[in-house]
Amino acid sequence: TQPVYNESDVERRYIDDKTVAVLGYGSQGHAHAQNLADSGVDVVVGLREGSSSRSAAEADGLRVATPKQAAREADVVSVLVPDTVQPSVFEAIEPELDAGDTLQFAHGFNIHYGQIEPPEDVDVTMIAPKSPGHLVRRNYEADEGTPALLAVYQDATGDARDEALAYADGIGCTRAGVLETTFQEETESDLFGEQAVLCGGVTSLVKHGYETLVDNGYSPEMAYFEVLNELKLIVDLMYEGGNTEMWDSVSDTAEYGGLTRGDEIVDEDVRENMEEVLEEVQNGEFAREWIAENQAGRPSYRQRRQAEQNHDIEAVGERLRGLFAWADEPEVEQEPEVSA
Ligand code: NDP
Ligand code: MG
Ligand code: MG
Repeated sequence: TQPVYNESDVERRYIDDKTVAVLGYGSQGHAHAQNLADSGVDVVVGLREGSSSRSAAEADGLRVATPKQAAREADVVSVLVPDTVQPSVFEAIEPELDAGDTLQFAHGFNIHYGQIEPPEDVDVTMIAPKSPGHLVRRNYEADEGTPALLAVYQDATGDARDEALAYADGIGCTRAGVLETTFQEETESDLFGEQAVLCGGVTSLVKHGYETLVDNGYSPEMAYFEVLNELKLIVDLMYEGGNTEMWDSVSDTAEYGGLTRGDEIVDEDVRENMEEVLEEVQNGEFAREWIAENQAGRPSYRQRRQAEQNHDIEAVGERLRGLFAWADEPEVEQEPEVSA
């Protein structure tokens, strides 16, 4: 089993006297910048001219410069603009990278698929929080941590790992635990996970379930509650205690039905589809497709996004969430009751 780094493994001198340029002030950027600054690290936020994020960064008390200026004064450049714009931002800042500086990422896509080719004399590292940025910030403010992955792609100084760990400490991740991986493993497993299970797989499963019920005469409202709304309760149990806790919490009927029918639904064919999706991630086919799609102005992306928004389940859900009270109530800390 891999070691999990925590606060006792950190030497803060690797980051404390450095200047960190955080490029981008979106989901991850605002969290890293504020957490590092609150941890006593000198932070400058790099934003393009006319950036809509500028006022937020300034209101949070941070210094803002252009990406190029920020990179010029920084020892560590944390690249937290969207993955699709990172190559062009990198082009602008590359001349500002001195020997011994660090290029820091939160996802390995552009390095792993060769869209960014860093100079040989800089360290290239990754601290990837396993959570959206707003939680990275919220956890930090609550004296809690967010788990993260650490990877070193290039170690020019010999200090790359120690510095990355100190960066992870600065954004609060060592309070929870930091697991070491590689750019390749993080990139491929992240893409596979979001495609096959988390984002792609689960929405497809929900839509197919909804359509099966509605096509057979069940009411859309019932179908929505059954296959989408209740999913959260099930996932919360899995998150807390794995599949075992979920099975323990549902009725014996749900457990027997699920155990006998689950593998009939998501069967060997689906498993083979997963192997194909993984292969397209591994051989770079998915990356090439997504890069080309961006270069073409995202026609297919926009069309698919629109079709997804037009699915009946979206309108049903919007209406129900407006009629029932749960959606805008703050989350209640109690054991959910589940009857699946
Ligand atoms: P966001 O989409 O939230 O980044 C938006 C920020 O980038 C804004 O400040 C925006 O400024 C700036 N930006 C957008 N386009 C440009 C451009 N062309 N030039 C300069 N700045 C630009 O990014 P995320 O935080 O989602 O992702 C950042 C990195 O973190 C990615 O590598 C991602 O994979 C990784 N990551 C993201 C997670 C998440 O939950 N979101 C989780 C873990 C990793 P403006 O106002 O000027 O548009
Ligand atoms: Mg992910
Ligand atoms: Mg991802």
